[in-house]
Amino acid sequence: MPAFADAARAGAVLTLDLAAVRANYRQLRALGGSAVCAAVMKADAYGLGMEQVAPALALEGCRVFFTAHLGEGMRLRQLLPAGCGIYVLHGPPPGTAHDFLEHDLVPVLNDPGQLQEWRACARRLGRALPAAIQADTGMSRMGLAAADLAALSADPGWLAGVRPQLFMSHLACADEPAHPMNGLQRRRFEQLREVFPGVPASLANSSAVFLGTDYHYDLLRPGAALYGINPQPGAPNPLRQAVSLAARIVQVRTVREGDIVGYGARYVAGGTRRIATIALGYADGWQRALTGRGQAFVDGMAVPFAGTVSMDSITLDVTGIPEARVAPGQLVELLGARQGVDEVAAQAGTIGYEVLTRLGSRFHRVYRDDDRG
Ligand SMILES: *Cc1c(COP(=O)(O)O)cnc(C)c1O
Repeated sequence: MPAFADAARAGAVLTLDLAAVRANYRQLRALGGSAVCAAVMKADAYGLGMEQVAPALALEGCRVFFTAHLGEGMRLRQLLPAGCGIYVLHGPPPGTAHDFLEHDLVPVLNDPGQLQEWRACARRLGRALPAAIQADTGMSRMGLAAADLAALSADPGWLAGVRPQLFMSHLACADEPAHPMNGLQRRRFEQLREVFPGVPASLANSSAVFLGTDYHYDLLRPGAALYGINPQPGAPNPLRQAVSLAARIVQVRTVREGDIVGYGARYVAGGTRRIATIALGYADGWQRALTGRGQAFVDGMAVPFAGTVSMDSITLDVTGIPEARVAPGQLVELLGARQGVDEVAAQAGTIGYEVLTRLGSRFHRVYRDDDRG
């Protein structure tokens, strides 16, 4: 089936610019100097398609990847060339050790139970198994607490059969450079690291890459910045936008003064207005919270949402746009040069991460890689 037929059958077209993703990766890697730059692929590469993103980054030289879940790691293994390392952030659920070994995945061990699970597996197999050790330095979400580490490491056999190849932690406030938690967590990280002499260390997500070299250690773990989400909200965005989204106009109509538009009659026409209905709604990740706050672009001109965001459609006030430019079948821009992921997030009262990971499964997806043709 020709590609245009697929596109015509979907309500909207999502385009990921893999050249931009690769350029962002190179920029992060350059900032890291001698640190290795890994890539975080959880949630299907932040909703954008691990199948396309992971190989593109591997071509760029990325050799270390992270997923959240074991199943994601197993899928990712099929997509990467030989020699790539994959860490699973949530560690090994009970009874899954053989999956880790069969698919060459390295668990991040987050608590004494996971450490014990991995040690027991090593004992059964009679060989040492690699692992990353995560310490909690203040976020209280995942990782061994300082007290756990102190208690465990008092026993000389505590790492029997476990070969730590990465020591890591995660920052709670890296997107706020002035936040005191950053320095506090870094100091705790420094202290806890002493338990693992000679083991490579990793602290930086996307935002922390921009906190300076003190935060880089041996391995960077960016996710969001690869797609152009601003790592330091409020400061100019140094990254390239990688995501664009355009929805198809289904219908255009004229409404008169007093007519209502959409569920709940929340929009009442104050005069004669032109309303265009586009084929994208909250089922596609365009939150209902954007009712009355969202906007789209027709030929570069902003058009506000008029009325409630529906499941499969949104009504736009296109009054003032020349009629020839708003006909059924035409595409209206929701993400692109004029409105990025961060702007839409601000309108919806959330963060760019959530906008990306909510993107729906119905779009026609296009992957461009212009630098490679
Ligand atoms: C998600 C995640 C990352 C990547 O975070 P970004 O802010 O997207 O760069 C890094 N490390 C851990 C532990 C994570 O959970």
